[in-house]
Amino acid sequence: MAEAKVNPNGQLKGKVALVTGASRGIGEAISVRLAMEGAKVVCTARTADAGESKLPGTLRDTIARIQKAGGQAMFIKCDLSQAEDRERLIKDATAAYGPIDILVNNGAVTFYSPIETFAEKRFKLMMEVQVWAAVHLAQMVLPGMRERKSGAIVTIASGAAIHPVKPYENIRAGGTVYGMCKAALERFSTGLASEVYNDNVSVSVISPGLVATPGVAVHGLINEKTKDRVAPIENIAEAVYQLVTRDPKTITGRVDHATPFLKELGVAASPLV
Ligand code: NAP
Repeated sequence: MAEAKVNPNGQLKGKVALVTGASRGIGEAISVRLAMEGAKVVCTARTADAGESKLPGTLRDTIARIQKAGGQAMFIKCDLSQAEDRERLIKDATAAYGPIDILVNNGAVTFYSPIETFAEKRFKLMMEVQVWAAVHLAQMVLPGMRERKSGAIVTIASGAAIHPVKPYENIRAGGTVYGMCKAALERFSTGLASEVYNDNVSVSVISPGLVATPGVAVHGLINEKTKDRVAPIENIAEAVYQLVTRDPKTITGRVDHATPFLKELGVAASPLV
């Protein structure tokens, strides 16, 4: 098994990665994995310090975890629902670390409710944070990536993007809007992959399956029926790392579940520092 350590001269040496939703869960794991390969990682979310969220995990903890192991990371607070915040995020990240080479759209707010009673305000917030923020961030980092003829954008989607099929067993009640957001992100990514193919920028999607995170705990998604499907968080982080380090022309446009993707590549997930 690979050793969990930061390699300052790893494959991502000199690269700047921006990871949204990095205060906990999958975004934290992805930030750590990219930093382990020498990337300078800008971690963003709303929670900088303990007490600012009901959920465990803060940006300060994420960057401390990376720095303690010898990696490079900083955090910038940003509410992804706010356009000015997103603009400031890119401006400040670029000023501190240089142009963004890798964008990981992972942050999400999710409400489960049947369509009949889904509040418009919540629908709009989910679409803004999950879908438009991903598009807007891509709009801001793409000009530099195209100019440098190098870059990678990875978006974290979900199996919820897949159309439900009869007999409609194991369907998450109230998950239609979540599925809409993730389906939109998948189509955005495959479309963008085709738009920037000639610029050597890869755009791809990882679908996590079920992973134990603070967000999943809130929604009570891990139970007797689902517990055997839980995938290690390291698999998601590894899949993202693999996507951002492989030949963009070959890897771009993929929409994959992390675990079978790693199996296809013949790669085992590295443990995290
Ligand atoms: P999580 O534990 O709920 O973390 C979500 C992250 O998004 C947090 O860092 C949160 O930070 C951030 N966030 C939420 N609203 C935000 C806002 N308005 N502005 C900025 N940041 C915001 O989620 P997770 O389970 O790690 O999931 C990460 C991604 O994987 C999501 O896209 C999710 O849909 C997807 N996914 C997860 C699973 C799973 O089983 N875990 C399965 C399928 C897909 P703050 O609260 O600090 O802002």
